[in-house]
This record gives sequence, C-alpha cells and structure tokens, in this order.
Amino acid sequence: MTAASYPVIRCDGSVHCVAEAQGPPGARTVTEVRRHNAGDWHARPGGRDICPDCWKGDYR
Ligand SMILES: [Zn+2]
Repeated sequence: MTAASYPVIRCDGSVHCVAEAQGPPGARTVTEVRRHNAGDWHARPGGRDICPDCWKGDYR
C-alpha cells in the first residue's frame, strides 16, 4: 500500500498563517479542493489561496 497523497490548498495570505484546506473525500486535484471550499476560501490571481481568516483580516 502506498502512502496516500491528497491535495490540499494552503493559505498564502500571511507568512504566519499555516491554514490548510482539504477537499471532499476522494479529491484528487487542488481544483476539486478549491471548488469544495468555495465560499470560504478565496483564490487570488497568481494561484494564491487565501483562508477565511486572512480574507477577513485584510491579507487578501
Ligand atoms: Zn490564512
């Protein structure tokens, strides 16, 4: 059995932020993760992902 690797998106809003988001069970791509977390997380131009806290905290 191989080690499972699952996609996550990590917050790029602040260098201090270590927030991560996972997708739904069985998600295989970050696109699915982003879609699953749409409404909470925000994708910015350049591929940056911003967590809900940083979004509210003006790190967008
Ligand atoms: Zn964040």
